[in-house]
Amino acid sequence: MSKNIGLFWLKDDFRIKKNLALAEATKNHDKVVVFYLYKNKKFEYQQAQKWWVAKSLDNFEKQLSKFNINLEVVEVRSYKQAFDQLLKKKDFSIYWNKTYEPDYLKFDDYLSKTLSSKKIKFKIFKGNILNEFNEIKKGDGTPFKVFTPFWRNAERFFSEKIPSLEKKINKCKRKTYFFKKTITINKIYPKKKWFEKFEKIWSPSEESALKELKNFINHNIKNYSEARNFPGIVGTSKLSPFIKHGQIHVETIWEECTQLKHNGVNKFLAEIGWREFNHSLINHFPHMLENNYSKKFDKFPWVKNANYLLAWQKGLTGYPIVDAGMRELYSTGWMHNRVRMIVGSFLVKHLLINWIEGEKYFKKCLLDYNQANNVSGWQWVAGCGADAAPYFRIFNPILQGEKFDKNGDYIREWIPELKFVPNKFIHKPWEIKDKKILDLGKDYPNPIVNHETARAKALNAFKKI
Ligand SMILES: Cc1cc2nc3c(=O)[nH]c(=O)nc-3n(C[C@H](O)[C@H](O)[C@H](O)COP(=O)(O)OP(=O)(O)OC[C@H]3O[C@@H](n4cnc5c(N)ncnc54)[C@H](O)[C@@H]3O)c2cc1C
Repeated sequence: MSKNIGLFWLKDDFRIKKNLALAEATKNHDKVVVFYLYKNKKFEYQQAQKWWVAKSLDNFEKQLSKFNINLEVVEVRSYKQAFDQLLKKKDFSIYWNKTYEPDYLKFDDYLSKTLSSKKIKFKIFKGNILNEFNEIKKGDGTPFKVFTPFWRNAERFFSEKIPSLEKKINKCKRKTYFFKKTITINKIYPKKKWFEKFEKIWSPSEESALKELKNFINHNIKNYSEARNFPGIVGTSKLSPFIKHGQIHVETIWEECTQLKHNGVNKFLAEIGWREFNHSLINHFPHMLENNYSKKFDKFPWVKNANYLLAWQKGLTGYPIVDAGMRELYSTGWMHNRVRMIVGSFLVKHLLINWIEGEKYFKKCLLDYNQANNVSGWQWVAGCGADAAPYFRIFNPILQGEKFDKNGDYIREWIPELKFVPNKFIHKPWEIKDKKILDLGKDYPNPIVNHETARAKALNAFKKI
């Protein structure tokens, strides 16, 4: 047992179960401090997540207390500056789990070199992923660009590797303090009222994540393959924010699910597979974080239209399924996957607005925002990603609504103005002639673009590239 302090650098790892770096710290040290580096600037762009992180810190602090481990939050401008300061001290060893984003991995390299040169003991562990992305490559050593063969290989590779290590956290002798200047978690809670609604919906803790998984397995996984497409029912797990912030490890999900024999299991695990694939993509092709994966889209004639963008963001496009989705996003910090595809397609194909704008707005509002899934999701929708939906396949928001929200339950939940509109008009309220039912243009907007005209324009724009 080492006499010095063991530090655990907490990023997206708000869990005790399958937290390899934290377990290693408590194995080697009597005194362990967990620290979180809070960058205010980062949350200017990820505003909803600020609430989730503050809540998670509060809950995790309580959990860690049971192990006599102190959680310290340090406000920093950059990680580099924070570590330059930290490295002036020498009486510690440090442990962390990987975060699979190119900037984090690059910083891991820098930090490893610096710590080694200063002879400070450190160890980096596998993060919240099934396979390290470098483990899954084609026979010729190049990365997969298509999901199906990627997942065939990845699934087999992981199931042959199981059981992976499950280390336990040891209880420390007493609580220890390390950083001189810390901030209270209260300082992180956002001031805006926006988040009050989240309180009623989400409970960001490891305990809730495990409960949600159990609930999903007991009630929903069986019908997942079909039910996952219908936004008006609970057909998916809603685990995404917990996965993003590491309240649950994907290995735990895998282990719990592979014991089951339902059809839904394979489909559900394949979606976890898409997350793995997306992480592989952004690390092998990091240019796609800010640019089109497919370079031919660099010449696409995107349109800049602030009014259209605002109408889309506020859920006032006049297309009920699109507006319902955008309002669900703002009210809950989450949106159903089918509707993410519909609203995304509407922005890039009906309004011809660059997917980057959509990606930015989702980043601001999503509690589950993560670089890999958001950038890849948007490029899939726009048609410029790897293994993406072809650009010319344009979602018709009326037909999508009729198919996946037949009776308009989802629409009525999020658009109170349409609550009393009869089913036959719910996806086309512009056909209502009786102002007593709906005063179009006053109660609810006229469609900002005509579907057929917008479709023709989109196809025309596509021809140019
Ligand atoms: C434009 C667009 C943007 C997106 N942005 C994000 C994002 O920022 N963060 C995010 O986690 N997901 C994103 N997704 C993927 C997907 O919509 C969400 O993961 C899913 O809706 C989360 O709900 P759930 O937990 O109930 O999913 P479930 O259906 O229960 O799936 C279980 C888990 O598998 C993963 N998963 C499911 N679907 C996908 C998918 N299509 N791609 C990758 N992983 C998936 C998630 O981790 C999810 O929690 C985006 C999709 C689109 C089309």
